[in-house]
Amino acid sequence: MQLLDKLAAQLEERRQQGLIRTRRTVESPCGPHLTVDGRDILAFCSNDYLGLAAHPAIVDALREGAARYGAGSGAAHLISGHSRAHAQLEERLAEFAGPYLVESRALYFCTGYMANLAVVTGLAAGDKDTEIFSESLNHASLIDGARLSRTALKVYPHADVEALDELLGTSTAANKIVVTDAVFSMDGDLAPLPELLALCEKHGAWLIVDDAHGFGTLGEHGRGALEHYNLRSPYIVYVGTLGKAAGVGGAFVAAHATVIETLIQRARPYIFTTAAPPALAHALLASLDIIAGPEGRERRLHLSRLVAKWHDGLRLSGWTALPSHTAIQPVVIGANEPTMRAAAALYGQGIWVGAIRPPTVPAGTARLRVTLSAAHSEGDVERLVRAVNALNVQMNAEERTTDGT
Ligand code: PMP
Repeated sequence: MQLLDKLAAQLEERRQQGLIRTRRTVESPCGPHLTVDGRDILAFCSNDYLGLAAHPAIVDALREGAARYGAGSGAAHLISGHSRAHAQLEERLAEFAGPYLVESRALYFCTGYMANLAVVTGLAAGDKDTEIFSESLNHASLIDGARLSRTALKVYPHADVEALDELLGTSTAANKIVVTDAVFSMDGDLAPLPELLALCEKHGAWLIVDDAHGFGTLGEHGRGALEHYNLRSPYIVYVGTLGKAAGVGGAFVAAHATVIETLIQRARPYIFTTAAPPALAHALLASLDIIAGPEGRERRLHLSRLVAKWHDGLRLSGWTALPSHTAIQPVVIGANEPTMRAAAALYGQGIWVGAIRPPTVPAGTARLRVTLSAAHSEGDVERLVRAVNALNVQMNAEERTTDGT
């Protein structure tokens, strides 16, 4: 029992520090209006940015995919798990990202986490003389990829192009890899990709772009951050996730065909795992049709109207709404305890927003992470804005009372 007692004591310590993470069980399909423990909840915490997770055409395609291919793939891609649906999806994704790459090819992964482990370790391996340059706010999966690759790692400050230039300039590594989120998951801002690409070209480095939160939402056709900035290079390695705006699951890497062949041959998170169910790939073909078509454009427009409505309505003092234009809209409160209290108070009113604490965000910047979706109505956002404004006034007043001011 000693081993269990030790774990229990560590958990208790976490609980005492207010750092315990909890889950709620959702009983309805993903969307703004959920049933949670029998209660109706208005949710602003999913990454279903275009509202496609419960889209009837995609759900039908999932059913059709299961009827055609069965429930599971049964094996890894390099054994017998690579189905026609996976192959079709990869072709479509390669076309989708094609204008921004050279000799574009795509590879489908079970999750974005695994895709990121695969690209970072895959590009770093085979060359001992490698250095990775990672942006300070990168997602955990990119950081873990860098750790797993066991190569030299330098972290450059958030969006600091000059600092990166200097680091790249003083590096003697033959294989340089710059790694960045395109849309930062906890801040909602965009990486300066044109400047980063220019630096990579100047110093002969790869640019790995994790567009988990941009794919589907950015660019006129929803092709993501590369379309938004209109960038093109054979040295870009693009990662898009398919469980967020695309509404289904999995992720893809799109890059020059040589990079993709390298990943197939040596990326362990690709080789040593069972391929995702082919039905998911089949459903994703329907999702891509919507994203690229007029309905996708209309959904992106609606989402940008909701973002404007949120900013226009907020009246905050003491708390800071970050200047994000994406669906990710953080409100920084600062300390952990009031942040958790604010999220709990909103939940008490039937509104669910994420509360994010260190170490996910830097110390002293705990925040509410509001995410908007094209499935929200203007009325949903008005209700959220009213609730956040009122809570801000109430908590400021409580603080003044406790201060005795
Ligand atoms: N990259 C970023 C920036 C993310 O936010 C996430 C998921 N939150 C991932 C990668 C991982 O993607 P997935 O959920 O598909 O594993």
